[in-house]
Amino acid sequence: MLADCQSFYASVEKAQNPEYTGKPVVVAGDPERRSGIVLAACPLAKAKGVTTAQRLGEAIAQCPDVVIVRPRMAEYIRVSLQISDIYRSYTDLVEPYSIDEQFLDVTGTLHLHGGSPEEMAQSMQRQVLAETGIYCRIGIAENKILAKTACDNYAKKNESGLYVLHKNGLENTLWTLPIHKLFMSGNRMTHHFQSMGIETIGQLAKTPLDRLKGMMRRKFGKNSDINAELYWRIANGEDDSPVTPQTHEAPPQSIGHQMTLPRDYGSLEEIKVVLLELTELVCQRCRGKGFMGQVVAVGCQGADFDRPTGFFRQQKMMDPTNVTNQVYRAAVQLLERHWDGQPVRKVGVTLAQFQDSGQYQLAMFDDRERAMALERATDALKEKYGDSIIMRAVSVTAAGQARDRSGKIGGHYK
Ligand SMILES: [Mg+2]
Repeated sequence: MLADCQSFYASVEKAQNPEYTGKPVVVAGDPERRSGIVLAACPLAKAKGVTTAQRLGEAIAQCPDVVIVRPRMAEYIRVSLQISDIYRSYTDLVEPYSIDEQFLDVTGTLHLHGGSPEEMAQSMQRQVLAETGIYCRIGIAENKILAKTACDNYAKKNESGLYVLHKNGLENTLWTLPIHKLFMSGNRMTHHFQSMGIETIGQLAKTPLDRLKGMMRRKFGKNSDINAELYWRIANGEDDSPVTPQTHEAPPQSIGHQMTLPRDYGSLEEIKVVLLELTELVCQRCRGKGFMGQVVAVGCQGADFDRPTGFFRQQKMMDPTNVTNQVYRAAVQLLERHWDGQPVRKVGVTLAQFQDSGQYQLAMFDDRERAMALERATDALKEKYGDSIIMRAVSVTAAGQARDRSGKIGGHYK
């Protein structure tokens, strides 16, 4: 199942503020500025033409009596977790997909509830509504992609808010949908499919895979085979990815790396290169573990380790993060503030005071999403091909150590 909360942020506000009942409500980034963006609109506001991601000024023009509410992300996260807990009383296999959507695998627990999947979903829906005031819509199918399709294209439009999508009935459902409804296919891909003469999901599904690969190779080169197969499988409703509950590994006190340099580094610019490389290593490990830290510490030491020189200082950042550039910015501040200009032979960076990044990631407010997507991509490349497959340009300067280090196996820097 894929369960989605209707107009989530706006629904939380309406559920918790009875004075908004019967009024069109939007949650907007900065209510004081008309240039702010609508993050969520309740169904009443939507009925008057307000849309998510619209500029607030336009929303007011569409719906002059709209109530504008400042977001309370911490509360939305709390309610989201409360809803997860409700789902977990039906099955232990609950996977958050976004702040207001969760996948549930009820294969193993359905019999405990003694009813059909629809009846089980309806009971969840009622319980979530009773306990949080949020109305959820639930798509039901034999795998995640079909459940998501069932929710987005059918359950949301259904009176009951429920829909069962049968894999052997795709001819009359999924396959009749226009290609832009294909899960995972953005505007660019939609455009390409259309230029290949593919207008519906059914046309894509029925294109023989080899032919599709050939068509995509002509456009994107021969590395496009994997994508061709991915889209083809989605169009055919094939998906064997499991519903993976969030693992709750307790974070350690801190994660740090230090490096002894091959020579004394005497300039700020050189030390900063190594500082960036170490920060990248630390953040990469935190990302892999799903932790975000709020305290960064930097240490520098001179060549004579017996005669202590240098410093070890820490500072608290505004928000917990594992984005390299954000941690690096704080680390550089520490370096610039506390380094006394003496030659440096050993540098260390540590991140501490962790919380689970899965939870925080839900609060996507700034450009963090882009930075995170970039880092997910580079982390995956390094994981697969080794650390030297991609590195920052500064690492190929004389001060850089990453290139050298990546050649070592079990090197002491790691
Ligand atoms: Mg939603």
